[in-house]
Amino acid sequence: MAETRTPTRWTLTDLLAAPEGEPLERQLRDLEQALQDLEMGRPRLTPDMPASEFLNLLHTYERIAAISRRLGAYAYLWFSEDTQNQAALNLQGRLDQLLVAAHNRALFFELWFKALPDEAAQRLIDSSGDERYFLESLRRLRPFTLSEPEERVIALKDANGIDALVNLYDMLTSQYSFSLQVEGETKTLTQDELMAYCRHPAPEVRAAAYQELYRVYRANSTVLAQIYNHRVRDWHAEMLELRHFAEPISARNTMNDLPDAVVDTLLQVCRRNAGVFQRYFGLKARWLKLGKLRRYDIYAPLSPSEKRYGLDEAVDLVLESLEGFSLEVASLARRVFDERHLDATPRPGKRGGAYCYGVLPGLTPWVLTNFTGRARDVPTLAHELGHAVHAMMAADHSVLTYNAPLPLAETASVFGEMLLTDLLLRREGDPTVRRELLASVLDDTYATVLRQAYFTLFERDAHRLIDQGKTIEELASHYFAALAEQFGSAVELSDEFRWEWIVVPHFYHAPFYTYAYSFGQLLVLALYQRYRAEGEAFLPRYRKILAYGGSASPARILAEAGIDISDPGFWQGGFDVISGLITDLEGLEVPS
Ligand SMILES: [Zn+2]
Repeated sequence: MAETRTPTRWTLTDLLAAPEGEPLERQLRDLEQALQDLEMGRPRLTPDMPASEFLNLLHTYERIAAISRRLGAYAYLWFSEDTQNQAALNLQGRLDQLLVAAHNRALFFELWFKALPDEAAQRLIDSSGDERYFLESLRRLRPFTLSEPEERVIALKDANGIDALVNLYDMLTSQYSFSLQVEGETKTLTQDELMAYCRHPAPEVRAAAYQELYRVYRANSTVLAQIYNHRVRDWHAEMLELRHFAEPISARNTMNDLPDAVVDTLLQVCRRNAGVFQRYFGLKARWLKLGKLRRYDIYAPLSPSEKRYGLDEAVDLVLESLEGFSLEVASLARRVFDERHLDATPRPGKRGGAYCYGVLPGLTPWVLTNFTGRARDVPTLAHELGHAVHAMMAADHSVLTYNAPLPLAETASVFGEMLLTDLLLRREGDPTVRRELLASVLDDTYATVLRQAYFTLFERDAHRLIDQGKTIEELASHYFAALAEQFGSAVELSDEFRWEWIVVPHFYHAPFYTYAYSFGQLLVLALYQRYRAEGEAFLPRYRKILAYGGSASPARILAEAGIDISDPGFWQGGFDVISGLITDLEGLEVPS
């Protein structure tokens, strides 16, 4: 990549002056001191202890969390820069062990607080400040927490049990290699590389990519499905039999601090609106001049050529889109560049993908991207900078309440992407490019909203079916039937997609995780609609949502912004925005 004004590599010195010698040793000494301070306080932990003493210990606990995060982040960021760097690997190995040990030493504090009688806990919660929601969250999990020895047994057995099994799933699937004929040449590909061909302009290449994916997974389906079976049974045994959650999904909902009924409403509204995306797929089939869209074609580009962007140009676009919204937000985003917290471009050994790491309140987050100038790289930059802005807006909170809860974690990131799309659409005179832009927003919205909601719907059924002793083939048939419902008559399904569920890592890693994506995206669509309707007046409400960080429940944060997440009408509003986008698309006259 040519010289850019935007720095392409970050510096980590704001985190730690050096990953060795005195700067590192001082952090380790501080951590040890804080751990000893906490341990010394242990005998004073009693239900009627003075609130001031409790707060002292809580702040010590916070100090431990802050140092741990600083060190863990340094190791993680350094390793991301260059996954082959031996010094980074050594530091990570050393810190991993050290931080797990520190965590275990501090754990008694949480467990003690969880075990307190209600009245005593409430008195201490009332005396706390910004840590309040952290303490409330511990109490929320209390009814589902077992005795300390039982918890220890579960943790110990998980390490070589279900965690090891899930690890095995990752090891097995990451070793798969795929081969694909492209332009007369047979290529050997990783799964990520293969899946990039699902967006290839040639229909036969897209079909071949999916067929190859399922050929390989199908060959291993007995083992993978067996791992899934154990994942589900382990979840059932732990969450229902031992911890007494009402339903398998309730365990996740409790972690997300969302009532079961809210999640149920969200999923129902998604299911009812499957037709919205079916309408889009019908439109797409006509544009691609296919009689009917095949499942292979849902991410197909509408036109083969892609516009390219320089890094500086992308940065300017993103900042400009933010400035049009709020100068404050734009100036926060600018800090990521000014403080050299961005690692922008790919290099050999650097990890792939993109992320934003908000380490500590008051520290500008670090952002990693692999910018190559493709059109998709620009919204990715907007997305990660949105995360950074979110973290900076929440800078007043404790390290324990700073990170947004999962259902709200994508608010600023997706909002930032929408601001960028709006700017690009305003700029773009060429109807073909406008259509491509809108269509790629709808492709992504489908993948985030409906697809993820159907994943959770399937999991709900799968947990029930496995409990009833159904076979792998029966699960696959069930999956296929749910796909048929999702796509209706708009998309032609081929048989291999019945095995899609064994390819979804979230099902193994974190059951019922995916509905949070649907939640986040529909929320942002509705918020964006309000921004369009209200203009400037919307800003203080938006600020407030972000500024909460993770210091209150999602329901409470959104209620203050005038949103009732238990109201089906609110979620329907998100789908109405999507319908509006499809209508815009239908109205775009594109010369053929
Ligand atoms: Zn994100």
